[in-house]
Amino acid sequence: MTFGACARIRLGAVTHNFQAIRNRAPGCRAMAVIKGNAYGHGMLACAGALAEADAFAIARLSEARTLREAGVDKPLVMLGGVFSRADLELAVSLEVSPCIHSDEHVRWLESRDGPGLPVWVKVDTGMNRLGFRLEDAPGAISRLQNCDSVSDVKVMTHFANADNPSDETTRVQIERFKDLIDGFPGDVSVANSAGLFGWANELREFETIIDAGRLWIRPGIALYGVSPIPGRSAAELGLKAAMQFEARLILVKPVLAGEHVGYGGTWRSGQDSTLGIVAVGYGDGYTRYIPGGTPVIVNGRRVPVVGIISMDLTVVDLGPDATDRAGDPVILWGDGLPVESVAEYAGTVPYQLVTGVTHREQAIFEK
Ligand SMILES: *Cc1c(COP(=O)(O)O)cnc(C)c1O
Repeated sequence: MTFGACARIRLGAVTHNFQAIRNRAPGCRAMAVIKGNAYGHGMLACAGALAEADAFAIARLSEARTLREAGVDKPLVMLGGVFSRADLELAVSLEVSPCIHSDEHVRWLESRDGPGLPVWVKVDTGMNRLGFRLEDAPGAISRLQNCDSVSDVKVMTHFANADNPSDETTRVQIERFKDLIDGFPGDVSVANSAGLFGWANELREFETIIDAGRLWIRPGIALYGVSPIPGRSAAELGLKAAMQFEARLILVKPVLAGEHVGYGGTWRSGQDSTLGIVAVGYGDGYTRYIPGGTPVIVNGRRVPVVGIISMDLTVVDLGPDATDRAGDPVILWGDGLPVESVAEYAGTVPYQLVTGVTHREQAIFEK
């Protein structure tokens, strides 16, 4: 391991998590969501670990190109849709199935010749982000079904609040979606990770569609062993964390009571103590929003970050009796310190922390 911050990725955990998700949704087909460099876990390596997935979902054509250039031949779904007509042609050439979510998309397809491509129609059942409004969706679906340059039409919707099991929005979205696809003969998709783990009973209402092999799930964060439901641990959901984010102490030095630490001198030592300087900063994705007091693990014990995170360095208070030395490893999140808990300190979601890892040092991939 280098001294600089480095993500250790356990690909076996990714495979395990995929299987655990499959077991929760028997009979469903699964597109594994590997956008954002597989949420910071390394897209190509994770694609390899997810060989059992029925498709991969991405958010940018550059991601599709990287996958195709690496020889990945699985169906690819572009979740956000294409952003221009030229991108639509690029999607065709990369054999990417785009999400169609606007009238403009439909017109582009209607006015193009050439081989038909499979598309996903995205319907907005209450998130008010991408997707046809409910009243416009049936018309768009039927135009696409009658469009020569479309070979297959599938329909999806996305939950807005599935991570909150007591928020009724998800139930409303499910009811709206069920009404919409009543009589629709093709494949359909609901459920991100939170939908799968928080609303499993409600998803059983799609039983006849599942039995027909037409329901697709779209897990993302859970593949990487991060709990999609605040307050419930990944372990209790049967998931294994795939990322451990580590760095090393590069210097251990004394600090006297009353001395300030770091930019702005925002922290002052209350006692004579020992500081550890860690080779990690916001340039590595250890964000500056991580406040003083956030724990890291050094030699098996939790010690707090002190002062403000710099671009390349972080200071921790090792305590007055510290015997730690330069070179000792520091766990920023991982074993004994779930990223979910660091995210709480930072006032963000674990998605942002793992996706934000910049990989200045190459990730270490393990089985
Ligand atoms: C990112 C994304 C997902 C995966 O969501 P997770 O919360 O990571 O499981 C599923 N569907 C759509 C449309 C997405 O954009």
